[in-house]
Amino acid sequence: MILKKGHPCGTNRWEVIRTGADVKLKCTGCERVVMLDRPTLNKRIKKVINPED
Ligand SMILES: [Zn+2]
Repeated sequence: MILKKGHPCGTNRWEVIRTGADVKLKCTGCERVVMLDRPTLNKRIKKVINPED
């Protein structure tokens, strides 16, 4: 998925690793993993590329 706010490494594309109360995302640029709670993630989502992501 693409988030409005990109990672400092320069990409804004993220791969979803795990969903739940918190969502684990991996930056496709530098492969760093971050956790976001769902309300925060929903605010930041720009575009979901794959509906299952
Ligand atoms: Zn990154």
